[in-house]
Amino acid sequence: MSESSHKRKPNSAIILAVANQKGGVGKTTTAINLAAALAQDGARVVLVDLDPQGNASTGLGVDYNSRKLGSYALLMGERDASSLVQNSSIDNLQVISASTELVGAEIELIGVDDREKRLKTALEPLVDDNDYILIDCPPSLGLLTLNALVAADGVIAPLQCEFFALEGLSHLTRTVDHIRRQFNPALQTTGIVLTMYDRRNNLSELVAADARSFFGDAVMETVIPRNIRISEAQSHGTPVMTYDPRSSGAASYLALATELRSRLKTQKNRGPA
Ligand code: ADP
Ligand code: MG
Repeated sequence: MSESSHKRKPNSAIILAVANQKGGVGKTTTAINLAAALAQDGARVVLVDLDPQGNASTGLGVDYNSRKLGSYALLMGERDASSLVQNSSIDNLQVISASTELVGAEIELIGVDDREKRLKTALEPLVDDNDYILIDCPPSLGLLTLNALVAADGVIAPLQCEFFALEGLSHLTRTVDHIRRQFNPALQTTGIVLTMYDRRNNLSELVAADARSFFGDAVMETVIPRNIRISEAQSHGTPVMTYDPRSSGAASYLALATELRSRLKTQKNRGPA
C-alpha cells in the first residue's frame, strides 16, 4: 500500500478505537451505545467487535450462528470487509462480529507480515461508504488492540469511576504515545469518558475530579451514569436508546454522541494531539 492511500478523503469514515486494557470499565457498553446514538442521528456506522468475548456482537443482537465470519476473517485477510458486515437491529448500524476463533488471533498474528497494520488495511473498503467505524477492543494492550490503534484516527477511553482507574489509564496513554511515534502519527486522544458514575458515591466524584485535573480537556464533559437500564439493554441484545429511550443511560449516550461530533470537528482543525 502506498503512503498516499493513507490520506483520508474529506468525507471518509472516522475510525475510533474504544480502548482501555482494564476489563469491565464500559468499553463494550460505550462502543454499542455510542455507535447506536450516532446511527440514530443518521450517520452510517460500523461497529467492529475485536474482543474474543464477543460482547458487542451479543449486545447488538447478532446471534451465534451468524458469527462464523467476522473480525477474525478480516484480520487474517480471508474476506473483504464489505462481505463481513452484518445488519444490526438498528438502522444505519452494521456490525463485524467476533467469532471464537479470534481468541487465537493474538498469537497467530505474531508470525504474520505487517501484523500491526492488518486491520487498517482491511478496513479500507469500508471507509468511503460510512461515517464512523468504531472498534470495540479487548481488555489488553496486545496485538488486537495495537491493530485497532494503528487503524484509528482517535481513541475513546472509558474510565470507570473507581479506585486505580487513573493508574490504568496512564498505561494506555503511554501506549498511545508509543503508537503515535512508531506507527500512526495522526492518532488523537479523542476523549476519555467517565463511566458508571454514581452520584450517591463520593468516590465517583473524587475520581472524576482527579481525572479532570490530570487529563484536562481530554476528559469529555458528558458523564455516563450508572444506570441499570444500560446493562439490561445489553442482555436484550439492543442499545439502551431502543430499550428505554427515556432512561438516563439513553440520554447520556445521546449527549456523548453530540459532544463527540463537535469535538471531532475541532480536533480535525487542530491536528494531532
Ligand atoms: P468492558 O467492555 O470494558 O469490559 P462492559 O462495557 O462490558 O466493559 O461493562 C462491564 C459491565 O458493566 C457490563 O455488565 C455492563 O452491562 C455494565 N455497565 C457498563 N456501563 C454501565 C452503566 N453505565 N451502568 C450500569 N451498568 C453498566
Ligand atoms: Mg468489552
